[in-house]
Amino acid sequence: MSDQRLNFIGGEWTESQTGETFETTDPANPEEVIATYPQSDAADTERAIEAAAEASDEWAATPGPERGRVLTKTGSLLDRRKDDLTELLVREEGKTRSEAGGEVQRAIDIFHYYGSKASDLGGTVKSSSARDTNLYTKTEPLGVAGLITPWNYPIAIPAWKIAPALAAGNAVVIKPASLAPGVVHEIADALAEAGLPDGVLNVVTGPGSEVGATIAGHEDVDAVSFTGSTAVGNTVYDTATEDGKRVQLEMGGKNPTLVGASADAEEAADIVADGAFGVTGQACTACSRAIVHEEVYDEFVDAVVDRAAAIEPDHGIDDPDMGPHVSESELESTLEYVEIAEDEGATLEYGGSTLDREGYFVEPAVFSDVDSEMTLAQEEVFGPVLAVIPVSDFDEGVRVANDVDFGLSAGVVTDDHTEANRFVEEIEAGVVKINEKTTGLELHVPFGGMKDSSSETYREQGDAGLDFYTISKTVYDN
Ligand code: NAD
Repeated sequence: MSDQRLNFIGGEWTESQTGETFETTDPANPEEVIATYPQSDAADTERAIEAAAEASDEWAATPGPERGRVLTKTGSLLDRRKDDLTELLVREEGKTRSEAGGEVQRAIDIFHYYGSKASDLGGTVKSSSARDTNLYTKTEPLGVAGLITPWNYPIAIPAWKIAPALAAGNAVVIKPASLAPGVVHEIADALAEAGLPDGVLNVVTGPGSEVGATIAGHEDVDAVSFTGSTAVGNTVYDTATEDGKRVQLEMGGKNPTLVGASADAEEAADIVADGAFGVTGQACTACSRAIVHEEVYDEFVDAVVDRAAAIEPDHGIDDPDMGPHVSESELESTLEYVEIAEDEGATLEYGGSTLDREGYFVEPAVFSDVDSEMTLAQEEVFGPVLAVIPVSDFDEGVRVANDVDFGLSAGVVTDDHTEANRFVEEIEAGVVKINEKTTGLELHVPFGGMKDSSSETYREQGDAGLDFYTISKTVYDN
């Protein structure tokens, strides 16, 4: 299945001028090479930015309905290739078939959604206080949007940046994550087939420190949308804002689910386990802290351990309960957090060991007796490791929930409506879930975080997702 892939620059599939390549491998079977990609450098990236800059005026002048048709057709082409895309995603990133299929479907839906939005862009007419004045706002694209994306949702996240950027009339340069770039090539292929003019979308693979850093710092890039770790996001922000670029950051999380005294422990365990162990815990919105009222604590710990113990990780292609980690270094990082948690005195109730088989597999892990000060309660693990923290009342629960640098998604499980409303008011998070898992997003409502999880300035998805890629003029026409 291994294939040789190229950069997509100015409408041409092209090799890197470095002549170097890198491989992706199957995380459930690391001996198997999936594809080879160009190991591009700054010069390749500059060529892609130039191509985008050249194509941007013409695309900006293309009528919205026409831009929308290209996006809608792209959605339909991706839909036709859904099975192949799902398999590629499973093989490069390690998701289960159901998880990967759901993600591909999300990307398809996003192209249809923004395809239908493109006609509505352009501005709004307002009533003027002067009789002879036509007063209106006119929205315009920014020019060239630089997109830098992570491996953990390798098709959905690029889709939720590419589609609104193009709908609004921008040209794009995207640098996908090196662990699973293949599905972005498939998007580029579908866009080209759907009629996107040459140069409007460009894809460059290679190291973040080279390709990503060039995008962030280049004077012809007008806006940078980044999703990834907080450490890299902060670097991108510093570089990109030096010359006043617009920047959107979506970064890490340490997402809590607060389980109140009135909660049913079994139901709470279902919700928490789903949020913690789905996609192998490799979601920015994964639940990594269950903050549990002491009245239901013991029952909850038993129930969530049962859920973890029932999970049988396997190769994603067979659609098991859970796939592997994406890479050896991500697996090592999870194992390190398990060790640190044990050293700091948390009780390992279940899991946390590798499986006796090839691939980057780990059992889901549950720790009890976790204190909010511990490393496991503060740092993003990005693996299937749940910290269960006991609290004696609701106020303490909210305090603990907020006692981290992150603020992406947060859940509460309770039968008490007043408690649920107070949680919505007091929690520091961009997404709040009542009696639902912390993961899972709808594409037509805004998404973003608070504190170190986000730049807080521009949200993604829904109508809000278009704001980042447009600027408005207010026109007084007498
Ligand atoms: P990462 O920060 O390592 O990499 C993200 C992207 O940045 C990759 O394409 C990478 O090559 C690039 N990059 C690396 N160094 C760079 C540099 N110096 N300049 C410019 N670009 C550079 O993140 P990852 O490991 O790919 O993804 C996991 C992280 O992403 C987790 O922290 C997770 O929480 C976060 N994430 C956040 C969201 C969200 O919406 N908030 C969604 C998914 C993932």
